[in-house]
Amino acid sequence: MSLGKYQEKRNFSSTPEPAGRTSSKSLQAGSALSYVIQKHRATQLHYDFRLEFDDVLLSWAVPKGPSLDPSVKRLAMQVEDHPVDYAGFEGVIPEGEYGGGTVMVWDQGVWTPEQDDIRAAIDRGDLKFTLQGEKLQGSWVLVRTRGFGSKADKSWLLIKHRDKFASTNDITAEQPRSVVTKRLLAEIARDHGGDVEKAATGDPPGGKSASRRVREKKGKTSKKAGSAKG
Ligand code: MN
Repeated sequence: MSLGKYQEKRNFSSTPEPAGRTSSKSLQAGSALSYVIQKHRATQLHYDFRLEFDDVLLSWAVPKGPSLDPSVKRLAMQVEDHPVDYAGFEGVIPEGEYGGGTVMVWDQGVWTPEQDDIRAAIDRGDLKFTLQGEKLQGSWVLVRTRGFGSKADKSWLLIKHRDKFASTNDITAEQPRSVVTKRLLAEIARDHGGDVEKAATGDPPGGKSASRRVREKKGKTSKKAGSAKG
């Protein structure tokens, strides 16, 4: 695994993202490795699903985020490997830089492969694993699927297996906050000098949202209390 693609896409004098170091954890079936899901309001909202493996974070961009419902398959586009210390990144990537926008640590924990040969499972496009995270739990699979055009070999599906953690609850809507700082996207944008209005479009609508508080602070008009709908 190499961070070449990761590094060539970014200008580290402009972005606060880590330039990257690697880990050297030994790999054994059944050993726990870290994972992180970063909610990222870039050009499009997506959830970056990252599994530590072979000194890097294997990464997939999941536009709709994970679903706890085993009947729901979520598209997961494989993207470049990220450095392991990227897992702690929460903040704002400047507009104009690669991935410009607000990043939240939406979930974190450890993942355990359910297959002996992880490399072979990845190469085959059928990776089964168990998550022990703050939001996600239980057994999941990432399976490569037939994609379109130039991204044909990058398209995977993220699917929950049936177990006691399966549910029809909409976890991305019900648990929209950072597991590290409890902030919404708009609050992270506000704290790091980002685009609050853009970030807020990735937060759930309605309620007393951070973007609304920010708008009220600025003295702009906001909806009357009670008129906001979810
Ligand atoms: Mn991203």
